Amino acid sequence: MAEDVKKLVIIGSGPSGYTAALYAARANLAPVVYTGYTYGGQLMLTTDVENYPGFPEGIMGPELMANMRAQAERFGAEMRDREVTAVDFSQRPFKVVADDEVTYAEAVIVSTGASAMWLDVPGEQTYRGRGVSSCATCDGAFFRNKRMVVVGGGDVALEEAIFLTRFASELTVIHRRDTLRGSKAMQDRAFANPKIRFMWDTVVEEVLGETDPRNGQPRATGLRVKNVKTGQETIVETDALFVAIGHQPNTSIFQGQIPLDERGYAVAADAEGTVTSIPGVFVAGDVRDYRYRQAVTAAGDGCKAAIDAERWLEEHGVDVDLTGEIYAGLMVEPTSQAGVIDLEHQQRQGQPAGAVK
Ligand code: NAP
Repeated sequence: MAEDVKKLVIIGSGPSGYTAALYAARANLAPVVYTGYTYGGQLMLTTDVENYPGFPEGIMGPELMANMRAQAERFGAEMRDREVTAVDFSQRPFKVVADDEVTYAEAVIVSTGASAMWLDVPGEQTYRGRGVSSCATCDGAFFRNKRMVVVGGGDVALEEAIFLTRFASELTVIHRRDTLRGSKAMQDRAFANPKIRFMWDTVVEEVLGETDPRNGQPRATGLRVKNVKTGQETIVETDALFVAIGHQPNTSIFQGQIPLDERGYAVAADAEGTVTSIPGVFVAGDVRDYRYRQAVTAAGDGCKAAIDAERWLEEHGVDVDLTGEIYAGLMVEPTSQAGVIDLEHQQRQGQPAGAVK
């Protein structure tokens, strides 16, 4: 292997990328992580995170991401705060281009995430994390017994609206048309829910707010909306706005390089794993997951991708340190199945059988 070829390059720096980096670094793969210029992923745009295990009092999103980054760096992951602009996965080693910088890699983990689509109206940015959210699961519980609005007419909007009725004192779904896009089953559930009311043919024009006298922070208090058929504008008072108008996977640079579905999400070769149909290229996190989209599920995916990548590298003759913790932690019954560590092999490496670090 030429000296400038890295064993593993990780593209993306959300929970999946940083977790993959942590595992790969502890396995002595010296991963290079292209974090992007605005590193840290979607959690950099949130405030309190109360559903990431291990933080009983919650943690601020940016702090959690800084911790993940520092933890991976501590074990030797190299962070490059640059945007990958092109890749060539047609031959190995794979080529990764970040503007004028070209790096080659034996294996690549794609963990570029997805971006929530926003309304792009005045006030939305100001009150993001202060009443404006794109994640009901993450932020719904902050608004117990408060008024809520969900914008969107797809399955996610309906799912989030139904979920949020657990907390909301009242909940309005605002949709720009008079028919929903979501599935019939979700529509039936939403229509049957007595807490949900619909505002049809309506678009949000502005998020209104004030400075919270209790803490001096901005907080959303309402929306200026317009009926697209009548042109009439009204004010909807609300404590929380959940924008559920879709997500965009960050895969534009991977078109023609890895399989993408019709919506642009990366496709793994099997639903459980992170392996793609391109040997040596792995996918993890929201870039391939439109269902769960949680920090903890993305982190779990990153862990899987690092393990899958390390196994693959070893199978393909790349020098991998088998005393690295991934293998030690994966001690399983002896098996001849390719890619699964066996006890004899580990004993040949000088470790006692069954040793777990
Ligand atoms: P989606 O199906 O694309 O729906 C997006 C919704 O947002 C649409 O109603 C759209 O309005 C509206 N919208 C888009 N841009 C807007 C804007 N600028 N202003 C106002 N409204 C806007 O996206 P999704 O709900 O996130 O779902 C993504 C995919 O996951 C879908 O295929 C969905 O079926 C699937 N999913 C399935 C399930 C399930 O089966 N249980 C659960 C979750 C997600 P229009 O209708 O006018 O276009």
